[in-house]
Amino acid sequence: MLVITLNPHFLELKPSYLFTDIARKVEAYQQNHPDRRVLKLGIGDVTLPLPQPVIEALNSAVAEMGTAEGFRGYGPEQGYAFLREKICASDYHQRGIYCIQPEDIFVSDGAKSDTGNFLDVLGQQLTVGVSDPVYPVYVDTNIMAGRAQQIVRLPATDANGYQPGPAELTQDLDLIYICSPNNPTGSVASRALLQQWVDYCRQHQALLIFDSAYEAFISDPGLPHSIYEIPGSETCAVEIRSYSKKAGFTGLRCGYTVVPAALMVAAEGQTETVSLRQLWNRRQTTKFNGVPYIVQRAAEAVYTPEGQQACAANIAYYKRNATLLKNGLSQMGYSVYGGSDAPYVWLKVPAGFSSWSFFDYLLEQQALVTTPGSGFGNYGEGYIRLSAFGSYEVTQEAVERLQQLPRPD
Ligand SMILES: *Cc1c(COP(=O)(O)O)cnc(C)c1O
Repeated sequence: MLVITLNPHFLELKPSYLFTDIARKVEAYQQNHPDRRVLKLGIGDVTLPLPQPVIEALNSAVAEMGTAEGFRGYGPEQGYAFLREKICASDYHQRGIYCIQPEDIFVSDGAKSDTGNFLDVLGQQLTVGVSDPVYPVYVDTNIMAGRAQQIVRLPATDANGYQPGPAELTQDLDLIYICSPNNPTGSVASRALLQQWVDYCRQHQALLIFDSAYEAFISDPGLPHSIYEIPGSETCAVEIRSYSKKAGFTGLRCGYTVVPAALMVAAEGQTETVSLRQLWNRRQTTKFNGVPYIVQRAAEAVYTPEGQQACAANIAYYKRNATLLKNGLSQMGYSVYGGSDAPYVWLKVPAGFSSWSFFDYLLEQQALVTTPGSGFGNYGEGYIRLSAFGSYEVTQEAVERLQQLPRPD
């Protein structure tokens, strides 16, 4: 045995049983019903192959690396200029957002790592606001950083459209996470709501972390894709994006974090201001050596006309599944949310069921796998999440099987 001081906060983490419990139940079901085809509507991962233009860019970058002229060693920790410039032009300037410059963009191996890593530059005495149900990474990374007692869970309910606002706060927050479009509820924060949060942050000296990993799923032209569409946000918000859901990069790994130059901070009790971007740059250059060149070329291909078209086709495919689920379920009399501008449908379980008992019921009756909402927080109790990331054929059959069940109520 090694006697050594550990980060005591790791011992405060609750073990996460959600996906292991699901897997165990599915396995037991399959053993008892070997001939029944189990349909999975629980997956939070993409299933379509990478778009062809991405594969072509990868291939040619691989070939380049095998030549004397094309070989690249360590790249810039922040990402290659070709990608940062493309991101800035396509995701920001072309959308009318001019407060962002390529220097504000930090290419990374994905949104999950950035979400956790960003806490490196922040102090421990922060009160942190998350919505409940929540993407568990926001909570667990804050627990690891010693903030278990400083996490405020804001109920995301039918009453607030599953996106809580600052008007509902009963205490001041220093750090706020917003995930929009939301995992797990599929809700999207309106421009007006985001403006309220930005105003709150500026009035209360709070930092906003805006996770827009599902931005590409927004169809409604009135809904914001970026926090930087909101005036004043460049002085209080960090945006985290990913190619995972937008372009199928969950296995390839690439995303980026935006820290605007205008985001200046002063440590509490001090007058000297420092640039948050500079701190993040210092963190990244010390602890990170950049994303593989070939992966950054693959990400660049997402922005070519062919890349855009191929990604849009994949998103349209998943969105067709979401529509099928949403419409099918609401026609059966269920209360369903999300599914319009997100790949998730959030379903209220019928009276008399809990998240887990309805999960069991769907598995036992129709061999359908879903995700119990209670796994994302107490306010997720009474809901299940359905994912649109499966195949159209599976989604269609799932809806048919659901139709064979008695209608709710
Ligand atoms: C899938 C997902 C991401 C993307 O994470 P990567 O690490 O980039 O794959 C980020 N945020 C949320 C809420 C997600 O569901």
